[in-house]
Amino acid sequence: MQHGNVTMKLLDNYGRLIKDLRLSVTPRCNLHCLYCQPLDWEQSEPPGTISVEEVRNFLTAMRMLGLEAVRFTGGEPLVRKELAQMIEAAREVGVPDIAITTNGMLFKRKAKDLVAAGLQRINLSMDSVTPEVFRTMTRGGEVRRVWEAIETAWELGLEPVKINAVMIRGMNQGEVIPLAKLSLDKPLQVRFLEYMHLDNSNPEVYQQRFIAGAETKAHLEREFGPLEKLETDPSAPARVYKIPGSLGTIGFINPVSEAFCSSCSRLRLTSDKKIRPCLLTDLELDISGAFAAEKPVEALVDAILLATDRKPAFGNTLPKLRERVMVGIGG
Ligand code: SAM
Repeated sequence: MQHGNVTMKLLDNYGRLIKDLRLSVTPRCNLHCLYCQPLDWEQSEPPGTISVEEVRNFLTAMRMLGLEAVRFTGGEPLVRKELAQMIEAAREVGVPDIAITTNGMLFKRKAKDLVAAGLQRINLSMDSVTPEVFRTMTRGGEVRRVWEAIETAWELGLEPVKINAVMIRGMNQGEVIPLAKLSLDKPLQVRFLEYMHLDNSNPEVYQQRFIAGAETKAHLEREFGPLEKLETDPSAPARVYKIPGSLGTIGFINPVSEAFCSSCSRLRLTSDKKIRPCLLTDLELDISGAFAAEKPVEALVDAILLATDRKPAFGNTLPKLRERVMVGIGG
């Protein structure tokens, strides 16, 4: 196999085409969202965190196996000072679609360098438009900085800008309508995410806080009337709708009530170099050895094939004690 040559398509044992990668570049985060990160989360970069060269080698191997899109995530990807170099590596090895998921706090400051490096798209987390609710859910974040990030993304031509809002009963139900209204006159895709039990919270409290996407949709339809369904890539997690006449769109990501495992096209790589074939099972393959091999790209191809072979048919959406919480996996 030649460097950068796409020679294969990667199919798992259930006939799913694996073409998307979520790559976590750090476990650190500068916000502390209630549903994502425990209060005692370690905030220093652990030794052995993935390097720029390792990102390049992994993406080269994935690209040889047909990778179409990478999304850099974390923790918070923008706290990693080498993020632009990693994006540049993705561009150099020919990944066609390069995106980040970020809380946006540092985006205004770093955006130009990231776009110059090859960043094409951005997903921003914004659970609320109301400053007090946002501050409570993120334990201290300022929603004004997400707005600055959205405007910066538009100025730099990053489209479409997607907004992720995790819906939690008792916290941001009152934000459903204000968030959806953003799509009326702005070219945004506002996506409502179901809360997953990936935070090791008390299972009963989790059940009380969980809101199914259908409930959020019904809430919206009481206000705006029937939403218009749009056709999108079936392997993408969001089901996309539109308030009739609006400029933007509304997405629902319902991994719990309408699990989309049968169309899952994703692998994850954690910042401590473990391939996680499924977000919702604890299965991980430590591939540090492949990164350290004499011919790392070839060894990584083998590791990716093995991880794909182990990709389970379904994740476990029920509340259970997880070995790793969301901030350490990379959403
Ligand atoms: N720090 C970045 C951010 O805030 O977007 C990237 C990492 S964060 C883990 C990625 C996405 O996962 C965010 O949109 C976040 O809201 C979502 N997320 C985190 N914990 C979640 C949970 N328990 N259930 C559903 N989504 C969650």
